[in-house]
Amino acid sequence: MSVNMGVLSIQGDIDENLLATTFAIKELEVAGTVYDVNTSDDIADLDGLIIPGGESTTIGYMSKLDDILDVIQSKISVGMPVLGICAGLIMLSSSTADSVVGKTGQPLLGALDIDVERNAFGNQSMSFQSNISMKAIGISKFPGIFIRAPLIKDIGSTQVIAKLGDMPVAVKTGNVIGTSFHPELTYDISIHKYLVGLAVDFANDK
Ligand code: GLN
Repeated sequence: MSVNMGVLSIQGDIDENLLATTFAIKELEVAGTVYDVNTSDDIADLDGLIIPGGESTTIGYMSKLDDILDVIQSKISVGMPVLGICAGLIMLSSSTADSVVGKTGQPLLGALDIDVERNAFGNQSMSFQSNISMKAIGISKFPGIFIRAPLIKDIGSTQVIAKLGDMPVAVKTGNVIGTSFHPELTYDISIHKYLVGLAVDFANDK
C-alpha cells in the first residue's frame, strides 16, 4: 500500500503544504507520495487532501470550473481525510460572511456544520502566533499562526479540537478537520503527520 496525498493547487499556500506533507510521509516511514491536484480526476485517486490557506473566494470560484467540489464532497462521504486550513476551513464550512463585505455567496463544501466569519482576526498586519493545545488529536502544544483568520462562530455538531482562549480555532467531524491557523508555516509537522496517519488508515480500509 502506498498512500496518495494531495494538496489542492488552485491558489494559496501550496508549496508549503507539499513540503510539510512530504516530510510527514518521511517521518512516519510510510510509503506515499504527495501531489499537487487541481482536476477532479486527480482528486478521485487520493487517500487524503489538504485545502490550503489563501483566498477562499478564489479557491471556491475556480473550483467550480471543474467538478472539483463535487468530487471532494463524494470522497469525503466515503471517509477520505481532509484538512482545510484557514481559507480551506472556510471552504469546508456550511455558511460564511465577512463583517465588511457580508455574504459573498461563494461556493462552499458544507462538510463541516459550522458558521464562520471571514477575516475576523483582522487584516494581514494583525497576523500573530500563539501556542495552542490539540490534546484531542494527541498534540499537546502547537504553534498556531493566524493570518486574516476566520472565526468559528457556530461549531454546529463538530468536535472542537483546539481553542485560543475560549474561541474554537480547530474543529473536526469524522475525518474532516479545519483549522483557523496555518500549520504549514511552522517547522512543526504534527498536524500533517496526523492527517497522513488518517489517510494511511483510509487507504488500508479501501
Ligand atoms: N481571509 C481569507 C479568506 O477569506 C483566508 C485567509 C487565509 O487563508 N490566511 O479566504
